[in-house]
Amino acid sequence: MPIPLQKTFTYAISEAEAKFLQKGMRVAVSFGKTKIYTGLAFSIHTNKPNLYEAKEIHQILDETPIVNEFQLKHWQWLSEYYMCSLGDVYRAALPSAFLLESETIIYLNNTFTNEEVLTNDEFLIFEALQHQSSLTVHQVSDILGKKKVMPIVNDLLKKSVIYVKEEIYETYTPKLIKYVRINKVLENDISLEQLLEQLSRAKKQREALLAFFQLSTSKKPVKAKDLEKYAKVSSVVIKSLVDKNILEFYQLKTDRINFKGDVSELKTLNNHQKNALSSIEETFKTKDVTLLHGVTGSGKTEVYAKLIQNVLDEGKQVLFMLPEIALTTQIINRLQTYFGKQVSVFHSKYSINERVEVYQNVMSNKTKAQIILGARSSLFLPFSNLGLIVVDEEHETSYKQFEPSPRYNARDAAIVLAKIHNAKLILGSATPSLESYFNATQNKYGLVELNRRFNDIQLPKIELIDLKEKYRKKEMSGRFSDRLLKLITEALEEKEQVILFQNRRGFSPIVECKTCGVSPQCPNCDVSLTYHKFKSELRCHYCNYTRAMPNSCGACGSNDLDSKGFGTEQIELELKALFPDYKIGRMDLDTTRGKHGYQKIIGAFEAREIDVLVGTQMLSKGLDFDNVSLVGILNADTMLNFPDFRAHERAFQLMVQVSGRAGRTKKQGHVAIQTYNPYHQILQQVSTTDYQAMFKEQLQERWQFKYPPYFRVIKITLKHKDYTKVDTGIHWLFKALYNVFGEHVLGPSAPAIARIRNQYIKNVVIKIPPKQSLTNTKQQVLKIKNTFEAVKEFRPIRFIIDVDAY
Ligand code: ADP
Ligand code: ZN
Ligand code: ZN
Repeated sequence: MPIPLQKTFTYAISEAEAKFLQKGMRVAVSFGKTKIYTGLAFSIHTNKPNLYEAKEIHQILDETPIVNEFQLKHWQWLSEYYMCSLGDVYRAALPSAFLLESETIIYLNNTFTNEEVLTNDEFLIFEALQHQSSLTVHQVSDILGKKKVMPIVNDLLKKSVIYVKEEIYETYTPKLIKYVRINKVLENDISLEQLLEQLSRAKKQREALLAFFQLSTSKKPVKAKDLEKYAKVSSVVIKSLVDKNILEFYQLKTDRINFKGDVSELKTLNNHQKNALSSIEETFKTKDVTLLHGVTGSGKTEVYAKLIQNVLDEGKQVLFMLPEIALTTQIINRLQTYFGKQVSVFHSKYSINERVEVYQNVMSNKTKAQIILGARSSLFLPFSNLGLIVVDEEHETSYKQFEPSPRYNARDAAIVLAKIHNAKLILGSATPSLESYFNATQNKYGLVELNRRFNDIQLPKIELIDLKEKYRKKEMSGRFSDRLLKLITEALEEKEQVILFQNRRGFSPIVECKTCGVSPQCPNCDVSLTYHKFKSELRCHYCNYTRAMPNSCGACGSNDLDSKGFGTEQIELELKALFPDYKIGRMDLDTTRGKHGYQKIIGAFEAREIDVLVGTQMLSKGLDFDNVSLVGILNADTMLNFPDFRAHERAFQLMVQVSGRAGRTKKQGHVAIQTYNPYHQILQQVSTTDYQAMFKEQLQERWQFKYPPYFRVIKITLKHKDYTKVDTGIHWLFKALYNVFGEHVLGPSAPAIARIRNQYIKNVVIKIPPKQSLTNTKQQVLKIKNTFEAVKEFRPIRFIIDVDAY
């Protein structure tokens, strides 16, 4: 059942059903008093449950299994390792259209017109949805006077009559292009002569129509825009032909990700790449996982491409995982140029139907689903014949899912998936995570290094700018040192582009009263609101609460309000004033909110419509621009002072990755880092791109302070809107855990933001020493959880377990 309960449930089936049903098929079943869910047949047996009477199933929903044995094995591993229910994994793994339940809300698909294909029941629902904007599956069953309606709703989905609401995902709307064709009513007997006659007094329209016929001789759909151009008429002219029922407009979906372009050969590898490739192949003889540590711009993608080619030649499937698909259209394009139609992209921003389509293509091993590009959820596709998984930018934190359960790390889960399929896996990064590099040095993984940039371009020259000194000597304009300004000016004069990085995390503009020092707080969370100058409003970055910027202090009434700290928006404004003749762009969560927000900004920067791009960590994610000669980091210190055991590792990764955007293809780039701490060891390591030094030093600290990769970490979080409840609960829990694990339990503590959306939050952390059994530890934790949940007053508290909580 797709519910967060640990166990599976037994339902009764008839003998006929038993002959038909297979493991991995869906069944509609009732649960509780009124609810209907889509369950999954997990095991078919003849053992009567002891504690309850097995209910009959409503019906079987599939003709063949939609989940295969590989998946079920993988799900079981996920549920055991991450201490969540199999149901949580089931729910995460399938597109939600597969998981209809009584409360699922359905909507009419307005583009559906083909009523003839509907059965009577289906038509009734189709009709009901004309009068009512939505229905629940439960209401469908009321309308039809039947209990067993899942198959009907499923068929309506299949016929695209309806769609189900996705709460979590933004629906992805493909770009629509307007085309023109001859109006349907005329289609059967058009007489061009008659039409032209009819238009004898509208010269422009006549010409447009003639042009249309000329264009349509090629039998290709005619774009409205092309017709305007070709006939040299305005859109008004074509519109009047449509109004006269001669032409009509229609739209075709052009999925931006859908590949149309030409396929080209793989690039010839240079010697370094060739060596890397053969070393990888060599390590694969004895290891299932190999880490490719290749500096930024070394051409890792080309090496992956060769590996992929080999696996495809063996007739096997490839999964290529990326940390954030929205940011990686560049890689998608590159792989599509090499592998054309064999590439499918699995995207959480796609509509449900599109995701279902990819799911089904993978399931039936279609040609167009031989290579799947996707973010972490692409792990759940029904691969049957996987030969290779590539985990690109393996150090990226977005591989970890924190909410909701399953709280898995997709990189680690991919390693297990590869093992289940007997496939090989390549981890790639210029700045590997400490854990992966550690595993490689321990000989658990193969290790291949690629230390040269393609074309032997030098890695960027990195200089540190001492802010303390610059302020003292009064060599600052706003947030910019004279040195950074000089470098920007030089780059712009050379017609090169500049990237400026400002990590907003923990250092956003905050409004503070100069009289009493109070900052406006979010009413739902324990954080100060962030000032957004452009809209003159205050916003909470945790719950999206928004209010207008006040004129006076809410605490003392003073009008003297000051904004502290700085974010990307302020940098952008300062730059506009400093460089009025250049185009300044900004890339952060606020400017990329729209569906194709990223793509627009990345595209504009690629097309050199933007000279200076200011942005947050989004800029560190594998982007490949060929004209960027300078990268500036405005303030390195906030990253270093973040209270997290990985702060230093992350700061190193982030700065090296951002720096790696400079000087990628033509000449050596330049990086300028402004900081109050130029002698900080991490900055020294960044300035020489000395991964080894960073690795050694961090590893020592991890050992000393008992953190991964030596110790494992399980975090337990309690949440409730009543503070006392959470507090009592966490103290009880801490004691119970302490009795078993002693000094390896840390806490109880409140996170930096102790209340979010009106829920109070408390944590305890369990550290597991290298020799302690993980399985036993987890069993003991689960035992304590069960006892906790048996206490009546604790029952309403949310109990969250996060294994490898980092
Ligand atoms: P990485 O992923 O290691 O940062 P990329 O794969 O993006 O590096 O390669 C950097 C640049 O060098 C890209 O623009 C890529 O097209 C180019 N490049 C890499 N290898 C080759 C090759 N063998 N032939 C031609 N161009 C290459
Ligand atoms: Zn005040
Ligand atoms: Zn809030």
